[in-house]
Amino acid sequence: MSTAPRRPKFPLSLDAVVERKPAPARTAGMPAVGGARGAAMAAKSLAAKAPAAPTPAASAVQARASASTAGGGGMASERARGALAARLRAAGIRDERVLDAIATIPRHLFVEPGLASQAYEDAALPIGHQQTISKPSVVARMIELLRDGLAADEPLERVLEIGTGCGYQAAVLSLVAREVFSIERIRPLHEQAKANLRPLRVPNLRLHYGDGMLGLPQAAPFSSIILAAAGMEVPQALLEQLAVGGRLIAPVAVAPPAGGPGQTVTQQLLLIERRNRHRFHRTALEAVFFVPLKSGTI
Ligand code: SAH
Repeated sequence: MSTAPRRPKFPLSLDAVVERKPAPARTAGMPAVGGARGAAMAAKSLAAKAPAAPTPAASAVQARASASTAGGGGMASERARGALAARLRAAGIRDERVLDAIATIPRHLFVEPGLASQAYEDAALPIGHQQTISKPSVVARMIELLRDGLAADEPLERVLEIGTGCGYQAAVLSLVAREVFSIERIRPLHEQAKANLRPLRVPNLRLHYGDGMLGLPQAAPFSSIILAAAGMEVPQALLEQLAVGGRLIAPVAVAPPAGGPGQTVTQQLLLIERRNRHRFHRTALEAVFFVPLKSGTI
């Protein structure tokens, strides 16, 4: 699936080292990159019993999201988004900031008009070039895992997304993080994402055209990294660009047991927490289905 160069010394091959248990609860403030900032965030979280207080960037995007759908079907789409968020809450998503973002971003703007009526179903939909817009429940789940332990008024810090696709998840991330960088390897999709995002004028999101397997060294380190495509393993460059104290969430292929019936390769979500320069703690989570992570650009 992935054409990544294989590294025999890769410290984190996907094998028996994965720990099969739910993600541990995290202390508020932990994901901050620096100690002082972490302490400040922890203090802030004690002070606030938060309804999801948006950053200034987030409230501006919220206003434009309403404006951009105010014409045809605006109210209907707002209701559909609210209903989608309610379904995700009922399905177990707890992070109010994530639910708010899902209720805010008009997903129908990110699919072709013929599919707009399905935009608020919890389903992946085609976006061309053999790629898909991710399922909202999976988008919400992955972001919630990155945010685990943060209060609603605490944004993620610096987030890197691999696989912009149509730009939907990047838009959701922009409402729950201070800064978002997103990379896409298929140029027409990168251009499409720019066009989709234009009416929302998201000030804290930067789109890059390139191979996300190499990360974005010029903007590293990242406190959170999220992959929207599944590789055989997590690229080494991304691990290197994860800040100490940071989290990475990725779908990763799991080979069937040796000697088994073969063929079927399944995927599971993998959460990686960087404990220090050399220690990465891995937690294997539920099975998922994503498009493949591929190297190079087209
Ligand atoms: N984030 C999207 C999901 C897009 S599907 C959403 O909001 O729904 C995953 C995307 O990952 C595809 O567009 C695919 O082209 C892209 N992708 C795969 N490998 C990549 C790589 N190495 N670098 C950047 N993008 C990649």
